[in-house]
Amino acid sequence: KLTFDELIRHWADEKPDRVALEQDGDALTFAQLEERSRRIVAMLQAHGLGRGDRIAWLGKNARHYFELFYSAARIGVVMVPIGWRLAAPEIAYILGDTGAKILFTDEGFDELAAKACSEMKSPPEVIGTAAAKTEIAAAPADDFVGAGPNDAVLQLYTSGTTGNPKGAVLTNANLFSLRAPAEEAAQPWSQWAEDEAILICMPCAHIGGTGLGIMALAAGVRGIVQAEFTPDGVLDGFEQGITRLFIVPAALQMVVHHPRARTTDMSGVKYVMYGAAPIPLDLLREAVQTIPDAGFLQCYGMTETTGTIAMLPPEDHCLEGNRRMKSAGKAVPGAELKVVCENGEELPSGEVGELVCKSPSNMIGYWNLPEATEGALKDGWMYTGDAAFMDEDGYVYIQDRMKDMIISGGENVYPAQVESAIYGHPAVGELAVIGVPDDTWGEAVKACVVPKPGVAFDPDDVIAFTRERLAGFKVPKTVDVIAEMPRNASGKILRRELRAPYWEGRD
Ligand code: ATP
Ligand code: MG
Repeated sequence: KLTFDELIRHWADEKPDRVALEQDGDALTFAQLEERSRRIVAMLQAHGLGRGDRIAWLGKNARHYFELFYSAARIGVVMVPIGWRLAAPEIAYILGDTGAKILFTDEGFDELAAKACSEMKSPPEVIGTAAAKTEIAAAPADDFVGAGPNDAVLQLYTSGTTGNPKGAVLTNANLFSLRAPAEEAAQPWSQWAEDEAILICMPCAHIGGTGLGIMALAAGVRGIVQAEFTPDGVLDGFEQGITRLFIVPAALQMVVHHPRARTTDMSGVKYVMYGAAPIPLDLLREAVQTIPDAGFLQCYGMTETTGTIAMLPPEDHCLEGNRRMKSAGKAVPGAELKVVCENGEELPSGEVGELVCKSPSNMIGYWNLPEATEGALKDGWMYTGDAAFMDEDGYVYIQDRMKDMIISGGENVYPAQVESAIYGHPAVGELAVIGVPDDTWGEAVKACVVPKPGVAFDPDDVIAFTRERLAGFKVPKTVDVIAEMPRNASGKILRRELRAPYWEGRD
């Protein structure tokens, strides 16, 4: 099944009474989803919307966001979920870029939406929550033509870690080609039991949020929606029987360090999926020990590839002497990965270059950015912008963003590796490593640290600590203490913000 329309009909026929979506105990079965989504289709059609038109969502995760998205997708109306942490001008930019006809807002977001629209020449029609929840046509649409596999259904903006966010356009086939359980590619984690439940707690404006809803629908299991991530919410979810979840490393850290983590029954969790940013090895070890019954799956991917294209399976998460714990895993069935040099030629294993991916989940392009699309998609290969090497068994080791690589005295330094070494220092809370201009070395390695509260912090001790663990050219020359780590809405560290003051007027 490769489209929303087919999947919704399929589950409504096969498992009408199974819960499809649930939020705060408020549940919707597949039969109800089918019926309600036909009404939403009728509502969208009454607004004159059809294939290729865009609608946007501004709000936290909500059951009715997923209903609206699935329904729009049935007729090829493209959903653009907008990050609720964005400021009015950023929202106005995305709305203008997409040309969305209607903006649906959730409770508490009407003011922000109005502010964004007031900055636009031709703002979309805004439908507030109260209206959106009730403005479901009285009569369900009967005779609509379902969108096909190659119709666009979702436009997700990249996180904006390395520059402006770009709108990745994704089709039905992009979303389901790797997610629908494929018999021949069966892995233990693509088998689903009847009573499984997936927690959707990462923001729906990212593939780690909306993508989990898609995974639940593809598998025909319960999607449990939480408005936003909180460590308590995840721990509550464990107690309420969730079997799978996806969270980013920063969120996993909060769960693992929560006092309740020691008392909560986590035995029902089958798979903890984590990824979207590099994970420090010590944190991963701690997490595996804290949730011992779960299989851990590292997910590597990007918005442009509909999320996961490489996975580190549970058996590579053993605690003793497994160097593979540092790997982001190997290509998922259906996707192909290789590491290439600047001219696009494949590099032998062990050599660092740019990771590229061929997959049915690769986006069809960036919205309104033909040049960026051309630069990113070549002959069906998505250029990830990530520096990586691959071992003989096809496991990839992400070094860092190509853009964040530091060249110091002619040597390449990948900040993530340096961060991973420093992370073990007892006084270091959060940290980021950047390159700053240096007359002798071209660039010098600098660590920016938020110290752990209540612990004495000595920059020289951090430098000495790192010198014991890494080659001299990778050791920070200087350590800055900062009050707060700049992060974007996905929790990723914005190194470009830390770098900016040092590079002002240069580069
Ligand atoms: P932008 O493209 O706007 O700069 P972004 O790249 O952060 O933002 P996303 O598509 O959300 O936007 O993130 C994809 C990136 O996240 C990957 O290119 C990679 O750098 C990083 N990433 C994802 N998964 C992992 C992982 N398991 N380990 C390390 N890094 C990861
Ligand atoms: Mg990116």
